[in-house]
Amino acid sequence: MDKKDLAINGGTPVRDTYLYLPYPGAQLYDEKEAKAAFDVCMSKSPFRYYGINYLGMVEKFEKDLAARMNVKNALAVTSGTAAVVVALKAAGIGPGDKVIVPSITFVATAGAVICAGAVPVFADIDDTMHIDPKKLGNIVDKYTKAIITVPFSGAPCQMDEIMEFAKVHNLIVIEDVAQSMGSSLKGRMMGTWGDIGTYSLQMNKMLTTGEGGAVVTDNDSLYERAVRYHDQGQLRCDPSRSADPALTFPGQNYRMSEITGAVANMQLERLDFIINGMKKIKKTLKEGLKDIPGFTFRRIIDEDGDVGASLIMYAPDSEKALEFIKAMNAENIGFFQSYGGKPVYMNPQIFTKNTVEGKGFPYNQFDEEIVYTEDMCPVACDLAKRMVCLSISPVYTDKDVEDVILAAKKVSSVIF
Ligand SMILES: *Cc1c(COP(=O)(O)O)cnc(C)c1O
Repeated sequence: MDKKDLAINGGTPVRDTYLYLPYPGAQLYDEKEAKAAFDVCMSKSPFRYYGINYLGMVEKFEKDLAARMNVKNALAVTSGTAAVVVALKAAGIGPGDKVIVPSITFVATAGAVICAGAVPVFADIDDTMHIDPKKLGNIVDKYTKAIITVPFSGAPCQMDEIMEFAKVHNLIVIEDVAQSMGSSLKGRMMGTWGDIGTYSLQMNKMLTTGEGGAVVTDNDSLYERAVRYHDQGQLRCDPSRSADPALTFPGQNYRMSEITGAVANMQLERLDFIINGMKKIKKTLKEGLKDIPGFTFRRIIDEDGDVGASLIMYAPDSEKALEFIKAMNAENIGFFQSYGGKPVYMNPQIFTKNTVEGKGFPYNQFDEEIVYTEDMCPVACDLAKRMVCLSISPVYTDKDVEDVILAAKKVSSVIF
């Protein structure tokens, strides 16, 4: 293999069609999702709490999701972001509170904290791409009330160590499982280790209804507060309790529609198929690439609990990572760097500390200045720019998987 054989230098690409399918749930849409939505329309009952010929699709989704995750309560909401806000508010987090957030996550995790009136502080990661529990001691202070963990791109995070830390420091633990529905550690589902867990049903997640989300918890009081916050302070499932003025407060409207709930039910039925498909493909990819020059695999703490949503490898430096990604894309395989190769706090909406009102809130609620610096999480800065990532689709064919292995070996043998 020679430099000129690479497609990026004019050689023949390994594939003639582009391989990039980061929409696992959406790829499987068929008549089942269509009929479920159709049935709600024909029932003339698109609202989740009552209707003309009410079907109870959202309620069914909540029951089935709780059963699948082995958790007592589930609440459907309108998005993964809404789910994190609801979880924070259920836990009473707001002005004057700091919330620990991983430095590698989607901007929504940190944004939700700010929208809830609290301030995110960022925890550095380790080679699992998750919060390094050993470094948490450096950032916790008297204002810290909660920690949000994010199992990144399908893999479980170190919840056992996080829970121990949280117990010592009396922190609420919220699990933002938007990207990793169905992942687990030691057989226990992500989302059920902490006090409260959240999921997203946006297009890129494991399952999708276009938009949607859910909150899960074993704690009845957190569940009731979540229900109230998502529905204007009401607790419609239990009218006797919703009458108690001592228990209520103003809320939002984050209610899921019955059309969304009906489609969510069909998607939830597909979760095991999606996970099994992804896991099998990831195993083949890792086996095929185990001797690939130049790269090391992202560390996975529990292979059984990894849903296999992505293959992530680390190059020795960012130049090599970008060279590999460019060359792989020329071979028609969509490797990429998550979040532009940067920690979440480098997003301008976080880093500038701008807010929609421009009045300094919520950053001005502390007797010290909140300071964000580019290098505050050095491991995240380093790994984010050395990573190369491929989204794994449950419907990649054997040929697709072979092409990935072939192309990755071809490119790495030339650039290393
Ligand atoms: C996608 C995502 C969200 C937001 O979900 P939406 O449904 O798009 O609001 C939150 N947190 C993480 C980690 C995500 O990946």
